Amino acid sequence: MRVVVTGGAGFLGSHLCEAMLAEGAEVLCLDNFLTGSPANVAHLRTDRSFRLVHCDITEFVHVPGSVDLVLHFASPASPSDYLRFPIDTLKVGAIGTWHALGLAKEKGARLVLASTSEVYGDPQVHPQPESYWGHVNPVGPRGVYDEGKRYGEAMVTAYRNSEGVDAAIVRIFNTYGPRMRPHDGRAIPTFIRQALLGEPLTVAGNGTQTRSVCHVDDLVAGIVAFAGSNHPGPMNLGNPDEMSVRSIAEDVITATGSSSQLTFVDLPVDDPQVRRPDTTLAREVLGWQPRMSWHEGLDRTVAWFRQVELEAG
Ligand code: NAD
Repeated sequence: MRVVVTGGAGFLGSHLCEAMLAEGAEVLCLDNFLTGSPANVAHLRTDRSFRLVHCDITEFVHVPGSVDLVLHFASPASPSDYLRFPIDTLKVGAIGTWHALGLAKEKGARLVLASTSEVYGDPQVHPQPESYWGHVNPVGPRGVYDEGKRYGEAMVTAYRNSEGVDAAIVRIFNTYGPRMRPHDGRAIPTFIRQALLGEPLTVAGNGTQTRSVCHVDDLVAGIVAFAGSNHPGPMNLGNPDEMSVRSIAEDVITATGSSSQLTFVDLPVDDPQVRRPDTTLAREVLGWQPRMSWHEGLDRTVAWFRQVELEAG
């Protein structure tokens, strides 16, 4: 089994590389380090089944030899990243996905596109089943990410239907865990960094908006199961336990033992009010559901952040 992981030096990609190696696969990790880092996979570089290649998937990519599976995870994912890199985000969602599909077609490989719950936008259906078409503002600041992924989904579907490529879609809901960057702007790493530094935790709006967060180990187990199936998706993967952003911040204060207080800042434009996956399909098809409790996942993530050098933000 030979696997190509695009975006393999990022947060999710690096955990996936590890998981695929543990499955006995040979792993080729392609990354341009736009938002990831070779440090995320440094511990894998002595493994003879692992190779890291610095390349941009929006440029022409040639992979010699056979490939059985392409996990297309390259894309900025945190709002502060895709607001900083709007064109790169659109390009990797469109041209990058096109190149990844071309590679899968050439090699007769299965391809899994890492899509996102953001294709549902600020949803008017709650919880979100795969059949919901979404409520996305194409010209809002988040449009570059949301529409890039929606375009990627359309291209995967076209390659599946007209080119016979075994191309499939997972829609990933908010995932957290070790190797998130302390300054990547997503709520959990931001709260943990602020709590460990004794700074106020910046809760957006009044904090009543909800999120459903999945520990990376659970998510990766779901991706591996999905990749090993022949299901086309789209399939939601995420943890259906829904929490308010305010309660996430309060739990971070408890888990870190911090004396930080909460402070309330403006809501980002088009911030979704609610977010919760309907995971019936993943349960029925893969027998998958998240196992790790929020408190255990949070404790493990805090333990990892304690070893990281944190800078005030
Ligand atoms: P990340 O920013 O840590 O990882 C993305 C990786 O892609 C980085 O290593 C980056 O350098 C690489 N990359 C970006 N553009 C590239 C290009 N043109 N060529 C090669 N590499 C490129 O983000 P993440 O959280 O690990 O997200 C990974 C994937 O999962 C993304 O596609 C994201 O949309 C999707 N996703 C993540 C979440 C989540 O909660 N983490 C939720 C939904 C979807």
